[in-house]
Amino acid sequence: MKLQLYNSLDRKKSEFITIHPGKVGLYTCGPTVYNFAHIGNLRTYIFEDILKRILLYNDYQVKHVMNITDVGHLTGDRDMGEDKMEKGAQREGRTAWEIAEFYTQAFKSDIERLNILEPDIWVKATDTIDDQIAMIKILEEKEYCYQTADGIYFDTSRFKNYTRLSHQDIESLREGARVEKNPEKRNATDFALWKFSPKGVRRQMEWDSPWGIGFPGWHIECSAMSMKYLDDQLDIHCGGTDHIDVHHTNEIAQSEAATDKKFFNFWMHGAFLIIAGGKKMAKSEDNFLTLDNAFVKKGINPLVYRFAAFQTHYRKPMEYSDESILAARNGLQHLQNQVRQVVQNSARQKGAVIEEYKTKFLTAINDDLNMPRALAVVQEMLKSQIPDAEKHALIEDYDRVLGLGLLEGAKPEELPDDVSKLVAERQAARDAKDWAASDRLRDAIQELGYVVQDTKDGIKVIKNFDFAL
Ligand SMILES: [Zn+2]
Repeated sequence: MKLQLYNSLDRKKSEFITIHPGKVGLYTCGPTVYNFAHIGNLRTYIFEDILKRILLYNDYQVKHVMNITDVGHLTGDRDMGEDKMEKGAQREGRTAWEIAEFYTQAFKSDIERLNILEPDIWVKATDTIDDQIAMIKILEEKEYCYQTADGIYFDTSRFKNYTRLSHQDIESLREGARVEKNPEKRNATDFALWKFSPKGVRRQMEWDSPWGIGFPGWHIECSAMSMKYLDDQLDIHCGGTDHIDVHHTNEIAQSEAATDKKFFNFWMHGAFLIIAGGKKMAKSEDNFLTLDNAFVKKGINPLVYRFAAFQTHYRKPMEYSDESILAARNGLQHLQNQVRQVVQNSARQKGAVIEEYKTKFLTAINDDLNMPRALAVVQEMLKSQIPDAEKHALIEDYDRVLGLGLLEGAKPEELPDDVSKLVAERQAARDAKDWAASDRLRDAIQELGYVVQDTKDGIKVIKNFDFAL
C-alpha cells in the first residue's frame, strides 16, 4: 500500500511522490510565541507529528523545519492592527525578546509532553531577517511590490492564480479582505512584506532595511526559511486550515513570484478543534484552553490528548468536551493495560513482526493518515489468537507511529508489600475454596490500583495503569 495523502492544492488524495527518491522535505508552520499554545493549535502539531512518523515508518528520510514566529505577526491577518509580540510584552510588562523566549520554551515543553518529535531545524524569524530582506529585494526588482506610508506591499493582482490553494472566488475574497481597510492598498488582498516602524515610535524589535527601519510581515518568513533550509526539497508544507486563505496563499504568491518555480508539491492542513457547543477555538479569545489548564492541572496525562486526537481523522473537526477526554483517558488506560498483559505474558520476549498485521496497519495509516482505522487494527491484533511474543513485537512496531510510549508504560514493577501480602492471602483463600474471602481480597487489591486476573497458571496481578499524571 503506497502512501496516499490529501493535497489541499487539488483537493484530493493522491499517491505521495517525493522530489528526490527516498527523501522528504517537510515544513510545518510554527507557533507565534506571544502566549501559550492552545489545545486547538496543539491538535495541528499532533497531526503533523503523525504525518512525520508515518513518513519515517515508510522509510523516508525526513528533513523537518519549523519556524518560530517571534516578530511581525499582527493581530489582524491582513497586516493591520498591532504586533502580537509587542502587545504580549505590554500585557506582561516584559520585553518582546523575553516574551518570545518564554513562550518558545513553553511550546517546546508542550510538544515534548505530547511525544511530538522535534523538528530537525528550528528557525526564529528574527534570525533570518537578512534572508527575508533579500527575498523582498528580488520581488521589488521583479516589480511585484509597491510602497505605501506604512510599508512595502505585494501586489496580488500581478500574480496569476492567486487563489489556487484557497479555491476561493477572487471577488468574494477581496470583499472579505476589505474588512480591514487600508486605503493605500491597490487590492484588498495585497499584503505587507515589510512594515515601517511608526514615526516617532521606537519598537523593541526593528531592523534597518533598504526601505526604512521596520520589521518583516508575517508571511515572508516561511517562504524565506523553507527555501533556505529545504532548498529544492519542497515536498510537504503543513499548517492548520486557518492558514489556507491568507498565510499559505500569500506564501505561495510571493515565493513563486520570486523564483518562477512551484513552491511545495503537497499542502496539508489539519482541521479545527470544536469546543462542545460548537465554538471554534481561537487564541484571540481570552479564555482559551492550554495543555496545562485543560490536562496537567486536572491531573490528566497530556498523552490522553494525543490519544484523543487519534479518534478523529485530521481533516474532520474534532469535538472537545470533558466527556470525550474522559473517554480517551479510559481508552488509553485500557490499551496500556492490554499491552502490559501482553508484555507480561510474553515474558518480555519479542517474536517476529507478523506481516499480515503490519500490512493492515500500514494500509490504514497510508490511507491519508487514517488513525481511527489504525486504532481498530491495534485492537483487532490484540484480540487475535497470535502468540503474545508476536503481539509484543507488533506493539513496538505500531508505537513508532502512535508515539504513546506503550512499552515504556508496560515496564515491570515490583508489587508493593501490601499488595503482595493480599495476593498471598487470596491464594490461600482460593486453595481453601473460600470464595467469599477470595472475592473480598480481590476487591481490596483492586482498590490499591491493581488488576487481578485468575489464569490457569495462577493469579496474575498488574498495575492498573493510571493516566493521571
Ligand atoms: Zn508559515
